[in-house]
Amino acid sequence: MNQNWPEWLSLNENIRELKPYGAPQIPAQVRLNTNENPYPLDESLQSKIVTEISERVSDLNRYPDRDAVALRTALAEYINGISRTNFSYEHIWAANGSNEILQSIALAFAGDAMGFEPSYSMHPLITKSVGKKWISIARGPEFTFQVDVATEAIKTNRPGIVFVTTPNNPTGGSISLGDVAELAKVTLSVGAILVVDEAYAEFSKENSAVTLIKDYPNLIVSRTMSKAFAFAGARLGYMISNSTLVEAMLLVRLPYHLSELTQAAALAALKNRSALQQQVEQLKQSRDLLIQELIKLGLHVISSDANFVMFSGFKVSAQELWQKLVDRDVLIRDVGIPGYLRVTIGTEAENKAFLAALQQALNS
Ligand SMILES: *Cc1c(COP(=O)(O)O)cnc(C)c1O
Repeated sequence: MNQNWPEWLSLNENIRELKPYGAPQIPAQVRLNTNENPYPLDESLQSKIVTEISERVSDLNRYPDRDAVALRTALAEYINGISRTNFSYEHIWAANGSNEILQSIALAFAGDAMGFEPSYSMHPLITKSVGKKWISIARGPEFTFQVDVATEAIKTNRPGIVFVTTPNNPTGGSISLGDVAELAKVTLSVGAILVVDEAYAEFSKENSAVTLIKDYPNLIVSRTMSKAFAFAGARLGYMISNSTLVEAMLLVRLPYHLSELTQAAALAALKNRSALQQQVEQLKQSRDLLIQELIKLGLHVISSDANFVMFSGFKVSAQELWQKLVDRDVLIRDVGIPGYLRVTIGTEAENKAFLAALQQALNS
């Protein structure tokens, strides 16, 4: 039992043993713990968002577009531009962060859910909160995804939903498109939905799984504006799939779930996204530099295709090193894997400050 709930409280049995999602939000000069883009939106984009929002304020007595068609159309165009696909708004669903997308998927589809761990902690948490069983399959050496192990596990356990994260959080590596296609095939053969969580796709060298959707009606690709898009505070996630699966989302969404202000802000950000690509390139370069520096400090780094890296090879416990960094005003993430810590790529100044604090902490 995690908490002593009062005797009289008949809490939903599905959630009794759960712990709330909890990346510590503690103040620190350098915050590299939740994988946000460290650069604020550029000022011209900020003012476009303000203009877009101010034009909608006079309509706030009315409910927003329940189906967010303009926003979903813009999201479809964004994906089509990157992946040379041909999606329209019927292939897109949008919600308050991709966490809401994941929850809607868990609510809509039957059966147990499976994932390849360590991976994103919200997949099991959401699964259990809706009363489903969670099946955890271990990743291989260096946290790599093993498609043969996954295929066997799916055939044996016959889950209803399979989650796979690429690039994986918290470990950083991505999965080849060929392996995702294998997964899509085997999940389809057992009647399962495959959810490819691509929260970090913009940072990856692999192509997005969206190109597989035309061949696999059971495939959902989940994306977010929280990471590369520098839009975590606005809360906008979305999925791309066959239109039938989008129709299923309409059954479980709450009416008017996406506020008029969220829709307006996200539309403005999508229309004016030119600064984005440059920032993503900068972050990828900074990532590769940071990896080199960590190796120079004698640490072991898991190869990363995302905007964060996981490292090990320090002599104290992860918790101790994490605390030593907090003491030096640097907040990174203890993801609960013994001997490992994860650091988000920050601005160049933040990365320098992190490395300096780390070097001190390692020698203290
Ligand atoms: C950050 C993250 C998300 C969700 O973020 P939202 O802000 O809810 O869109 C989803 N999946 C993974 C793997 C993540 O790291």
